[in-house]
Parts: sequence; structure tokens; C-alpha cells
Amino acid sequence: MTQDARLPLAAMLIDGRLEQAQSGETFVSTNPANGEPIARIPFGDDRDARLAVDAAAAAFPAWSKLSAAARAKHLHRLADALERRRNEIALVVTSEEGKPLHEAQGELQLSIDSLRWYAEEARRAYGAWIPDPVPGRRLLTQRQPVGVCGAIIPWNVPCAMIFRKAAPALAAGCTMVLKPAEATSYVALKVAEVFAEAEIPAGVINVVTGKASAIGNVFLTDHRVRKISFTGSTDVGRLLLRGAADQIKRTSMELGGNAPVILFEDCDLDASIRAVASLKFLNAGQACIGANRIYVQSSIYEEVSRRLADHARQMKVGDGSQAGVVMGPLVDMKAVEKVEELVADAVGKGAVLRAGGSRMQGEAYERGCFYAPTVMTGVPRTARLHDEEIFGPVAALYTFETEDEVVDLANNVDYGLSAYIFTENMDRAIRVGEQLESGMVGINETRLGAAEAPFGGVKMSGIGREGGREGLDEYLETKLLAIRVKD
Ligand code: NAD
Repeated sequence: MTQDARLPLAAMLIDGRLEQAQSGETFVSTNPANGEPIARIPFGDDRDARLAVDAAAAAFPAWSKLSAAARAKHLHRLADALERRRNEIALVVTSEEGKPLHEAQGELQLSIDSLRWYAEEARRAYGAWIPDPVPGRRLLTQRQPVGVCGAIIPWNVPCAMIFRKAAPALAAGCTMVLKPAEATSYVALKVAEVFAEAEIPAGVINVVTGKASAIGNVFLTDHRVRKISFTGSTDVGRLLLRGAADQIKRTSMELGGNAPVILFEDCDLDASIRAVASLKFLNAGQACIGANRIYVQSSIYEEVSRRLADHARQMKVGDGSQAGVVMGPLVDMKAVEKVEELVADAVGKGAVLRAGGSRMQGEAYERGCFYAPTVMTGVPRTARLHDEEIFGPVAALYTFETEDEVVDLANNVDYGLSAYIFTENMDRAIRVGEQLESGMVGINETRLGAAEAPFGGVKMSGIGREGGREGLDEYLETKLLAIRVKD
């Protein structure tokens, strides 16, 4: 592990205190746009995770007994504190993850929205008085917090993902230990400072960075952790589900996607191409809801291909902190190499490159993890990127003839997170939308996220929802009280 004593030394948040790892070890976080080191991050392990679980378990009784209104005040204060530091943290998101500043600002906004919305929604976590068929008895349900939750998040949405989990959990009365991805730990530790500044009671939220398997193992094996909320790859999700089975722990799984995007010949071409381009190249293609398989009806295939390729060639790629940049680097060189592999495989099987298809060339890109916005046509369905999540700025275009055919094609994968339809025929949009096997369908729309709306997938894309009323349910148990009454 390289060290650089001049770099800022970040700290974990455990029991309300900013702490270094028990091991004393750190690792260095770097900027994918230029390879520059950003900060030193504590390399925590099971010992730190255990201390954090101790703190979360100790904080749970008092936090869960607070009224929902009292917890709401804490969350609004936290939202205020985050608003005050939103520009600074957005810049850290850009420098550590690579996305352009306006996308990072969007993450901050979603974080603040989530805090404020769940602060209020938890006040409406009603139970019910159930009409009872048995005389002399009353049936009552009550919503209660699940308990201590372990949260594990990926690097591609490093700030908003914290609040998509922490806001409903804390609002519901749960306490939490959160583990960010290694690559974006500095973002999480900046957010940890905000938790401390907002004086969220000690132990209610803890942030531990470092060795993923060791920290994850504490979540899996410690009986006090009642739930694991995970966002990340399907492979790691599967591993955690297996581990959670031993203690029958509750889980929420937000996993990988392989979104179909369907352009029918009756779509509004200008608006559709703009929308598909912005979805495909969002976060340099590193989005779980990103366009993975673009199916274009044959009569408009050539025009869509040409215009998408023109768009890709004109995009300003660079360091996301610079004005006018619309696409930043990939998160690391491993990601670049994976995209290279997938493109080589597709081209080897007959795909034609219409734009991009290589790393960005030139001095400005030499030290960063840049891959050019890429458009490929004639992609055979045997190409790996048809069935695998690309997670890079590569638009793969396929052709289709009929509605029935494209519904079958779209559904013929193991994933089901998001899907998109472009058509001006509303009958068709509803008919096809209802048949697509995915948790979310965009109809002439690619923006799916809002604090108010349930987000999540079916099939191997996951279990459960984040956002909306459904996102609160993930952190609540329903308890039945059966009461004897002398009528
Ligand atoms: P990843 O699965 O490699 O890592 C996710 C998190 O899991 C990280 O914090 C990592 O440190 C941790 N982890 C890895 N191994 C672990 C282990 N053995 N025990 C415990 N934790 C472990 O995923 P990634 O590369 O960081 O993120 C990209 C993936 O996330 C993509 O597949 C993407 O689709 C998915 N994602 C899904 C959603 C959604 O809402 N469905 C949102 C964003 C990203």
C-alpha cells in the first residue's frame, strides 16, 4: 500500500467519533481523470466493523423509541448540513468517481430529497385495526424498525446511494453501519463528517472503510445485524444472499442491469436519439439503468445509427470538473480493459464500429482512464455484451422487425432492472411496457429516479425497492397484536 503523508487523512465514523482503523493502516484514493492521489483512507477490517455494530446496537433502543417526528427533525437538520456542503462534496464525487460536475450535483440533490422525503414519510408508517372474525378479540398491527442494518454500496453513485439507504433506515428507526466501495471511500468519509456536524446521535449511523470481505462478514455473522441492504454486482449480491441464509437475515438487493432500449419506427426521432445518447453516456456508461441493448426497428436503423455516431464523436470528454465536459473517465483501468475486451469480442464476431472503439488519444487523456464514446452496429446477439452488463460508454445497436419479436428479445436475458420504449403510439407503449420483464419502464423517458418513486429490479437484478413508500417498507417489520377484550 503506497502512502503519502502530505495527503489529507480521512476518518471513519464510529459511535459518533471520527476514527482511524484499528490496524493503523490506510490506502490511497485516486482521481481517475489524472491518476493523482486524493486522500488517505483508513483500511478498516472486522475489528472496526465490530466496533461499529456495537455502537449501532447500543444506539438502537433510544433511536427507535424516538417519535417519528423527532427523528424527522434530525433528518431535516442533516439535510440542511448537506446542503451547506453540497458544492464541496459534489466536487469530491467528480474527482474520485469521475462523473461530470452536473451529474455529481444531481446526486447531491437526490441525497437531500431522500432525507427530506423520508423524514416526512416515516411519520405515515401506519399500522391497522383489523376487522376480526373472532368475538372478544381485537387485531392490531404496528410497524416497527427492523433493527441494526448493514449497508454496502458501489462506487458508481457514491453519495446518493448512501442516502437511498440511510434516509429510510434512520427515518424508520433503524441504526446503520455503512460500507462504501474502496474506489469512492473519500466521498463516504466526507459525508461521515456531515453526519457528525449535524449531530446525529452517536452510533445511529456509522461509516467503515477498508477490507470488503472482512466488513461484509461481520454483517453476515453478527446476530445483532438484522438486515443487509446491498447495491452492487449480481455476483457479490449472490454471495451475500448465500451468507445471509445462515441467520435468515433480511436483505435488499439492488443488483446489475442489462437494459433494453427499444426504438419503434413511429418514435419522435430527434427526442429519442437525444434521450438514448444521454442515457447511454451517463456516467460514462457506468449506470445500472444504462442502455445495454439498443433495439432499433429496421426502417430507422441506419438513420439512428448515423445520428448516434455523430453525437458520440462530438461529445466533449475530459476531467469532469472542467466546464463543458459531458463525459468523464471510467472509474479505473480495470474498467477500461473490460470495455476493450467486450468491444474486441463484438468486433471479432462481426460488429461494425461507427464511432470510438478505443481509448481516448492525446495528452489530456494520457494519465486518466478514458475510453471514447463508442457506437457499434450489426452487433451479433452472440457477442458477450448482449448478455453482460457493459458498464462503459459503448452503444451496441441491434435491429428488429416486429413488436412481438422485440418483446421476446428484450426479455430473453437474466436481468430485469430497467427498460425503455420510444414510440408515439400510446397503445403500443402501454402494451409493450406491461410485457417487459423489468422493475422499471421508461416510456419516451430515461430518467427514472426520484425520492418519491420505487426503484429496483426483478430476476437477477435484485430483490426489494429503494425510494418511495416501498423503500421505507424495507426497514420496517409488521407486528401483530392480538388483544383479548371483554365485549
Ligand atoms: P461490486 O459488487 O463489485 O461492489 C459493490 C460493493 O460490494 C462494494 O462496496 C464492494 O466493496 C463490496 N464488496 C465486494 N465484495 C464483497 C464481499 N465479499 N463482501 C462484502 N462486500 C463486498 O459492484 P461495483 O463494481 O462497485 O458496482 C457496480 C455494480 O453495481 C454494477 O453491476 C451495477 O449495475 C450495480 N448497481 C446497481 C444499482 C441498482 O440500484 N440496482 C445501482 C448502482 C449500481
